[in-house]
Amino acid sequence: MRSTRFRADLSTLWLLGRPVHHSLSPLIQNTALELLGEKYLYLATSVEDKDFTRVVETLPLLGAVGANVTVPYKLHAYRLCHHLSPEAQVMGAVNTLHFREGRVEGYNTDGLGWWNALGEQCPPSQRENALVIGAGGATRAICHTLLSQGGRSLKILNRTLSKAEALKDELLNHYPDAEVEVRPLTDFCALLEGQGLVVQTTSVGLHDEKSPVPLPSQWPENTFLSELIYGRTTALTRRASELGATVQDGLGMLCGQAALSLSIWLEREPSDIPLNSMLSAARAVVNKRREEFGT
Ligand code: NAP
Repeated sequence: MRSTRFRADLSTLWLLGRPVHHSLSPLIQNTALELLGEKYLYLATSVEDKDFTRVVETLPLLGAVGANVTVPYKLHAYRLCHHLSPEAQVMGAVNTLHFREGRVEGYNTDGLGWWNALGEQCPPSQRENALVIGAGGATRAICHTLLSQGGRSLKILNRTLSKAEALKDELLNHYPDAEVEVRPLTDFCALLEGQGLVVQTTSVGLHDEKSPVPLPSQWPENTFLSELIYGRTTALTRRASELGATVQDGLGMLCGQAALSLSIWLEREPSDIPLNSMLSAARAVVNKRREEFGT
């Protein structure tokens, strides 16, 4: 496609958040749009709190087709939508806006995007018994998705037990047949055996080599580790890999949710979206940054 800078026939897609200058989303989305030959340009802009509503109201007037919404606006976006997908309704948060037929439609692709990106490395049968570390915003998307996709047993480990208990109550409200247990972070090693999947969803390890849980001395043979942090090797992923675990970092979730958002805006099947190329483009940039900054 001729350089997008010179074209006058493009529709726009946006990332709205604050800050957004570090985001990989423009790279990931524009990689896919170019491969698909679609006449769209994906841009990121930082938005002030007082302007968010006006920005969402104005973008469709400028011909924008949709937007991703990131921190701190997922709840704000949820409140602005005229129509919500079942996932957005359940999670009370929106990460994808679709401007369609004069309405603002809200979706949440975080959970299913993460689920899709697990792929064959962690087959669905292995996701039935899961241990999730954390009880924040990202954890909600993961837990709702695990249980809505047929998960049976979930252990939630968190520093603040009351937050994990609140999440458990919310989950049991939606999935009354599920087994949901809350435990302290210190129980991690004792609970590891028998889990098909471990998901690390806390922000611990984002900036340093700390682990939210005690590091194990053994890792069960068929337990997959999904770490939501990307861009650095965390203490937990390092130890699990050394012990033979199969590990996926947070680029899987980032690209998975991006691919689903794109399928909504383009009104194409998720299988049409080149997820692997999006992942490769993101991985190349992350690896280059790591070489430069030595993380
Ligand atoms: P959040 O809502 O603020 O939740 C933070 C979680 O981390 C809570 O469970 C909190 O425990 C825990 N935590 C924070 N500091 C801790 C400490 N010192 N010791 C133990 N636990 C601690 O954040 P979020 O939005 O869910 O994001 C969490 C992580 O997921 C971040 O690293 C973010 O980058 C990542 N993420 C990745 C993607 C992706 O696409 N890959 C998407 C979303 C989020 P308490 O409840 O005790 O405070």
